[in-house]
Amino acid sequence: MHAIDYERATDPAHALRLAQDQHTRFIGGGTNLLDLMKGGVERPLRLVDITRIGLADIAELGNGGLRIGALARNSDTANHALVRSRYPLLAQALLAGASPQLRNMATIGGNLMQRPRCPYFVDTAFDMCNKRLPGSGCAAREGYNRMHAILGASEACIAVNPSDMSVALAALDAVVQVAGPRGNRSIPMADFHRLPGTQPQSETTVQPGELITAVDLPPPGFTRHTYYLKVRDRASYAFALVSVAAALELADGVVRQARIALGGVAHRPWRMPAAEALLVGHRLEDARSRAAAALLVRGAQAFKDNRFKIELAQRATVSALRRAGEVA
Ligand code: SF4
Repeated sequence: MHAIDYERATDPAHALRLAQDQHTRFIGGGTNLLDLMKGGVERPLRLVDITRIGLADIAELGNGGLRIGALARNSDTANHALVRSRYPLLAQALLAGASPQLRNMATIGGNLMQRPRCPYFVDTAFDMCNKRLPGSGCAAREGYNRMHAILGASEACIAVNPSDMSVALAALDAVVQVAGPRGNRSIPMADFHRLPGTQPQSETTVQPGELITAVDLPPPGFTRHTYYLKVRDRASYAFALVSVAAALELADGVVRQARIALGGVAHRPWRMPAAEALLVGHRLEDARSRAAAALLVRGAQAFKDNRFKIELAQRATVSALRRAGEVA
């Protein structure tokens, strides 16, 4: 039997005081953490319940942006009037993730922190996984790797980030607000998730003892022409083989701004500013979108079972851009 201390925090400062060591985990919705604990992947000695510390509000910022509290539920966020009207890309991505029951429980902070679903990581029957057992090797490289990365992988790990929401947040240039023992800091989405490199054990730049307090969205520039396309093996409750968050600002049919982020292809949402720049100043046409998509996946490297993802990612990008451009 593995004993776990349980503490209920009353406010963010209390939560931080209770989480002073590396064996403590914050628990909000618990939709990922509890699964990992039941499987023996996560073995915290202390759980700090943060469900009653506030941080669930969604409110306008003085600069015209929006602050989403870390404890806001995925369903509440996706259905919030300001999110739907100003950041429809985020609402679409949230509703593409998981199931209604999970979205009702899962929080925005937890969604950001969710861990890869590589089968060799989530099943302790496998004894080779650098993410779970550092130095043991990566079973996926020679094993079943249909769902795995084609971009940014390392010798140590080829897992992908499973979050739909994070792909939209990356496209929208969101900023994650974090509180910690050494004060508060802001982490742009571009720096929030990390590539596996030689240390695949962690997926984010959040440090032990730090608590996500909110996600800030900059003033809306993409209210009309956005599309989140998720390609998966079944219509719901499945992780993306490839997903695309596309956002455009159009004037008289000409692209003034473009954002493209890919999901399901790397250890973090994948953006390539040069690919977006290729669209700016031109009419949105498939040939140019195809060129942007090719740039987006430049350097892609496939494994035994996932070669199809390189072409799929490009076709999905062209399709998502076309649909974003068509939205009235
Ligand atoms: Fe483990 Fe990463 Fe390899 Fe999967 S891909 S087996 S998570 S090291």
